[in-house]
Amino acid sequence: MAQKRTIFFLLVKLNLTAEKESCGGGRRQTMTTTAKTMKEESTSRNRKRKRQRNPKSPKEDPNETPKNQNNDKKRQRDTKTHKNNQHGASSASSKRSKPSNFLDTLREKLSGGNFRRLNEKLYTCSGKEALDYFSEDPSLFDMYHTGYQQQMTNWPELPVNSIISWLSSRSSSLVVADFGCGDARIAKSVKNKVFSFDLVSKDPSVIACDMSNTPLESSSVDVAVFCLSLMGTNYSSYIKEAHRVLRPSGWLLIAEVKSRFDPNNGGADPKDFVKAVSDLGFSSSLKDFSNKMFILLHFKKKEQMKPNKKKIEWPELKACLYKRR
Ligand code: SAH
Repeated sequence: MAQKRTIFFLLVKLNLTAEKESCGGGRRQTMTTTAKTMKEESTSRNRKRKRQRNPKSPKEDPNETPKNQNNDKKRQRDTKTHKNNQHGASSASSKRSKPSNFLDTLREKLSGGNFRRLNEKLYTCSGKEALDYFSEDPSLFDMYHTGYQQQMTNWPELPVNSIISWLSSRSSSLVVADFGCGDARIAKSVKNKVFSFDLVSKDPSVIACDMSNTPLESSSVDVAVFCLSLMGTNYSSYIKEAHRVLRPSGWLLIAEVKSRFDPNNGGADPKDFVKAVSDLGFSSSLKDFSNKMFILLHFKKKEQMKPNKKKIEWPELKACLYKRR
C-alpha cells in the first residue's frame, strides 16, 4: 500500500496528470500542472477514496442509483460521452483492455500522459519547433503514435479511410502528397504514387520534414491530403505549401476534427476557413459535416489566380486536447 502511494505521488510529481480536454469546447489550458490543478487533483483523489470507502453514498455521485445499477448507468453515460466526444478522447477507455494489475495501470497512465503532453505540444507550437523537438528525440514520435493509434481504435470511422476510398474511386495515375502522414496508411493502401511527409521517418517511404517546406517541385502533384494534421500554430503555411506543389485543378483534401470547426464551442467558423483557403487560390467543392467526429473539406486549385493583395484572414484552429482518463 505504502509502495502504491509512493508511486502515485511520484506520478503527480512527474507532471503526468494532464489538463481537461478542451477539444469539445473548453478553453485551452496551459501544460504545466499548477499548484491549483494539483490541489484539484488531490481533492478529486480524496473524493475517489471516500467513494471507495462508501460506494453507495448518493451525495458523492448524484448520478448513482440506489439499486446499484451504477456500472450499467455509468457505462451508458460513458457511451453517450463517447458519442458526443469530438476526438474520441474518452471513448478510448471503453475499448482498452483492462489492465491486469496496479503496475499495468501505472504504465498505462504514464503512456497516456505522455501522449497528451505531446499532442498538446504539436497543437501549440509551430511546425519548425515540432520538427526540432521530434528530431532531437525521435522516440517521442513513437510515443505519440502509440497513443494516437489507441485513440483511433475508438473512432467509428477513420477519416483516413474516407480519403483512401476517394482516391480508390479515381485514376491511380493521380500523384498524391500526404501531409502529416502518420503511419503512411494512404501510401500503403492505394496504387497511386504517394509522397508521404511527417516530422519523423519511421519508414523509408516517409520523408521527414516540416510540411510547410517539402522537397516537392512546384505544380508537381494532383492531390494534397491533410488528414487530422493541421496541427501547428502556423497551419496556414502548410496549406500554402500544398497550393505551391499542386498542379492547377489539383485537389486539396482536408479531414479535421469536427469540434475545431464548431464556432459555438470555441472552434473556427467553417465559412471563415473556407474563405481563407479560397482566397489563397482554391474553389470549394465539398463541405461534408455528416460525420460525428470529423469534417471533410475538398477544394480544387484554381487554374488561374488574380493577384490577391488583401491579407488572408486565417481563423485560429483551436487545439484538440484529450481528457485525462
Ligand atoms: N494523417 C494521419 C496521421 C494524423 S496525426 C492519419 O490520419 O492517420 C497528425 C500527424 O501530423 C502526426 O504524425 C504529426 O507528426 C504530423 N505533423 C504535425 N505537424 C507536422 C508538420 N509541421 N510537418 C510534418 N508533419 C506534421
